[in-house]
Amino acid sequence: MALWNIWMESKLRQKWHDCAFYNDYFRLKKCFKSRGFVVGLGGLLPGHLWIDNVEIVVTTKCNLRCPACANLMQYYDNPYHLERDIVIASMHKLNECFDWCNEYKIIGGEPFLNPDLKYFLEEIPREKCDEATVFTNAMVIPDDIELLEVMRRKKIKIVISNYSCAYGMQQRLIDLLKKENISFYVIKSDTWTNRGPLEKHNASRADLRQQFIRCASPYKSVLNGVMYYCPRSAHGYDLGVIGRREREYVDLLKNTRAQNRRHIRRLMWRHEPVSACEYCLRGTDEAVAIPRGRIEL
Ligand code: SF4
Repeated sequence: MALWNIWMESKLRQKWHDCAFYNDYFRLKKCFKSRGFVVGLGGLLPGHLWIDNVEIVVTTKCNLRCPACANLMQYYDNPYHLERDIVIASMHKLNECFDWCNEYKIIGGEPFLNPDLKYFLEEIPREKCDEATVFTNAMVIPDDIELLEVMRRKKIKIVISNYSCAYGMQQRLIDLLKKENISFYVIKSDTWTNRGPLEKHNASRADLRQQFIRCASPYKSVLNGVMYYCPRSAHGYDLGVIGRREREYVDLLKNTRAQNRRHIRRLMWRHEPVSACEYCLRGTDEAVAIPRGRIEL
C-alpha cells in the first residue's frame, strides 16, 4: 500500500501519463481485451487491421443544435444529409480493410432525421464489430417499420444522450425500443467536457503536443468519404474553418484497400497533434465539465 501511495504521488507517474506511449498502452489493452492476446496481436500485423472506435457521420442536421456541441453542429448555416451513395461507398471501403473493431457508430447531427438511416445500418459488418451503435438526442421517434426491423435484426444499440430538455420524448423512445425489443443505453453522465468555441487558441507546439496526448480521443470520424482523426477535425474542415495536412486524414474513396489499411493504422497510432487541436480545448486545463445538451451558456 505504501509503495502504491509513493507511485501515485511520484513525478514518474505524471511523466508516464503525459507520455505518448501511455495512450498506446491503453489502446493495446483494449485490443487484447476484446479478442484475446493471439487474435489481438494478429490485428496489429501488416496486412491486418484492428480499429478501436469509428463513427460514420450521416447528417449535419440536428433538431437541437446545442451551443456547446462537440461535433460543431451549431456552426452549420446550411446543414445537410450526407449523400446516400457516398456514405455507403465509404462504408464499403472501410469495411473491406479492417478485421474487427470495438465500436462502429452512426452519428449526426441527429441520425434519425436522415430517411436513409436503414440503408446505412444494413451496411454495418456486424460480425466484425463488438458493438454497433446509433447516437440519438431522443427528439425523434422512429416510425419506419423497416428501420425498426434492421435495428433489431442487426443488434444495433441505440445510445440515448440523456439531455434534460428531451426527457419527455426520451421516455416515449425508451417505451418504443422496449416494445420493439431493440437494445438501448441511456448515458448516465449529466455533463460534457467543454471543447470551447471554434476559434484558434494560439498554443505553443509543445502545449499542443501535451494537449493531444491528454485528449486521447478514440473516435475516428468518417465524413464525405474521408476519415479524420476526430470529429472536431472532420467538421472543422467541412465548415471551412480548419485546414488539414497530409497524414491527418485518409481519403477512403480514393485509396486502395492496402493503402487504406496502412493509412488508417498510421492515423490511429498517431503521436503528433492535428491542425484541429489548435481550435479545441479538450486535453487542456480549460476543458471543464459543462451541462449536457441544449442549455444556453
Ligand atoms: S482536435 Fe485535438 S484535442 Fe480536440 S478532440 Fe481532436 S485530437 Fe483531441
